[in-house]
Amino acid sequence: MFKWFGKVNFSPYTKVTDFADHLKDGRLMGSKCKKCGQESFPPRADCNNCLSGDFEFIEFSGKAKLLSYTVIHAAPTGFEDVVPYTIGVVDLKETGRLLAWIGDTIPDKDIKIGMDLQVVPQVFDELEEIKVYYSLEKPGTAWSKA
Ligand SMILES: [Zn+2]
Repeated sequence: MFKWFGKVNFSPYTKVTDFADHLKDGRLMGSKCKKCGQESFPPRADCNNCLSGDFEFIEFSGKAKLLSYTVIHAAPTGFEDVVPYTIGVVDLKETGRLLAWIGDTIPDKDIKIGMDLQVVPQVFDELEEIKVYYSLEKPGTAWSKA
């Protein structure tokens, strides 16, 4: 698991356990606060707008537009084995912004600000927590549980 140290998000199983189940079913879920309606991705058990802990899951399309990107040549500790790599920031169609790797379906020469992308979850579940990172792929890229 140390090869993924620092490269994936660790979400405690306590409050968002269903998020993992939805991912395994091939559905990308965000959360919607039942009190004020604030939507979040990744899902948040506690609303960052009104602090309510009452939320429901809503499905996100994963459709996104590229806002910015950068090619990493001098990697931080733990990433030396994968340079150079490209990361992008996207605006999600529904709401929110996500930082993710640009995936293999997008050659570097094709990367353009404003291009349509598909957020693809890459899930690892050997351990008790859910580990997931996201890659940005061509629109329509299919994904399934790892
Ligand atoms: Zn709220």
